[in-house]
Amino acid sequence: MKSRPVHAGNGVPKGSEETLYCICKKPDTGKWMIGCDGCDDWFHGECVNVRPVEEELVDQYFCPGCQEKNLGITTWKRRCRLPSCQRPAATNAQPPSKYCTPEHGVEFFKSKITLADYTPGEVASLANAVNDAAGFQKLGDNVPAPSSPSDRAKIENLLVVDFQKLEPQKEAISLQQSRLATRSKFITMTKDRQKRVADELRAEENQSSKGSKEICGFDMRLALDDEDFAEWCESEEGKLIFENGTISGREDLCVKKKCEKHKYWLRIAIEDMELEERLITEGSTLITNEENELRKRQNIKSLMEENQRLR
Ligand SMILES: [Zn+2]
Ligand SMILES: [Zn+2]
Ligand SMILES: [Zn+2]
Ligand SMILES: [Zn+2]
Repeated sequence: MKSRPVHAGNGVPKGSEETLYCICKKPDTGKWMIGCDGCDDWFHGECVNVRPVEEELVDQYFCPGCQEKNLGITTWKRRCRLPSCQRPAATNAQPPSKYCTPEHGVEFFKSKITLADYTPGEVASLANAVNDAAGFQKLGDNVPAPSSPSDRAKIENLLVVDFQKLEPQKEAISLQQSRLATRSKFITMTKDRQKRVADELRAEENQSSKGSKEICGFDMRLALDDEDFAEWCESEEGKLIFENGTISGREDLCVKKKCEKHKYWLRIAIEDMELEERLITEGSTLITNEENELRKRQNIKSLMEENQRLR
């Protein structure tokens, strides 16, 4: 994408015709504009529905007219995975990252850990666990349950109430789990389409030209963050794609050969899923630990009561 021109203070020099831009055919009013990579004209963000905050995220911009003429489609850079961040992810870094900065990686991780009362030290060790899942703390020793059946029944009843407090966390984890499954399906469909469209292009060109028909294959929807992607999945278009199990057509597909911009898309998508999987596993472990902890506490209470009765 081109950077926008420096706007001259008072606009048009005397005597010259006012230059008209955009689909609205109006002059430069000093408002934010975006340049089209097809026709080189400039467009008011407001007129073409691109927000200034998205400037850094636009990869290539094609105006409505150029899109109509099939000169290209607007492509977006992958956004930093931290939902509040509007900066592009450092996908060209080595290794490619799904965050704009390492700091945002840590912040994202913290935001995902919603279980109660973590000390900063614990969060830090969890953040480390992203790279070393093995280092996760083990569950403490178990306390034996009381011998009396009625005491044990009482504990089970109390635990039902205790465990209920963990329901929101359990729900959050199962939501993450189903989103991961959806993303994984989508990535498979994206890979299928990459292959299919490459085959189609080969057929269209009648095998006349040699050279690779490998295409980038990046689907623009892969750049959506978790929330936006989930929303898209629930749209008519999304539902249809998942029902059919295939992405037909070439919409939102990058067909470039040797595409620099999305070079690592599959690798990043896979890393994303691996991170998500670790978060889910760690989240489940935390819940299990918490449940064991609650059980342990009830057991201790009950054993103390038992001792008092025996005195
Ligand atoms: Zn306009
Ligand atoms: Zn254009
Ligand atoms: Zn960021
Ligand atoms: Zn591409």
